[in-house]
Amino acid sequence: MIIEIVKESGPITGEQIAERLSLTRATLRPDLAILTMAGYLDARPRVGYFYTGKSGNQMLAEKVKNITVNEYQSRPVVVQESASVYDAICTMFLEDVGTLFVVDKHITLVGVLSRKDLLRASLGKQALESIPVSIIMTRMPNITVCKQDDLIIEVANKLIEKQIDGLPIVVEVEYGSRFEVVGRITKTNITALLVDLANDEVI
Ligand code: ADP
Repeated sequence: MIIEIVKESGPITGEQIAERLSLTRATLRPDLAILTMAGYLDARPRVGYFYTGKSGNQMLAEKVKNITVNEYQSRPVVVQESASVYDAICTMFLEDVGTLFVVDKHITLVGVLSRKDLLRASLGKQALESIPVSIIMTRMPNITVCKQDDLIIEVANKLIEKQIDGLPIVVEVEYGSRFEVVGRITKTNITALLVDLANDEVI
């Protein structure tokens, strides 16, 4: 109702809207505040309210395009490159994750291990304790990474494009010559974002 009035007659003052609805300005104040905050209306001092012309969909898209990785990340689970495939399988079960990151002794990211990488290695005849993860992992520089302040929508695009479950979140050290892993972002985190959006819990 308020939106209709502003659409038709904006710019219009709060006082005038209240008059049209036979309400007091004070009664209307919370509703106007919500509509302004949600982006449907805009207010200019001494001019009044006007309709922004944005659809609910447009506003949702704008909201999603502003969410960054650090708002939905998980902690990383790493194994050393010298660890065996057997150890990596145990870590995956114990830590209850689907992707492990492999690091060297300077905690530099050197590889990624997925569930299927470990399953494939388990099909061979060799003892799993004797195979180091470094020979079966996907290795640098073929690893898709992201940074804390990247947009989640960019991560989602990378996951789809590369058909993978998650990305390591990294910081560049020593002038970008190596990456250290500081987090993990997966399809599960993006599902959590979808649920928050549906519950309208994204600020
Ligand atoms: P799964 O293999 O269990 O289906 P993924 O789809 O995540 O899990 O992995 C598919 C392949 O891509 C695996 O070989 C894995 O090592 C590799 N991979 C996983 N994450 C990344 C990443 N961030 N960058 C590059 N390769 C990755």
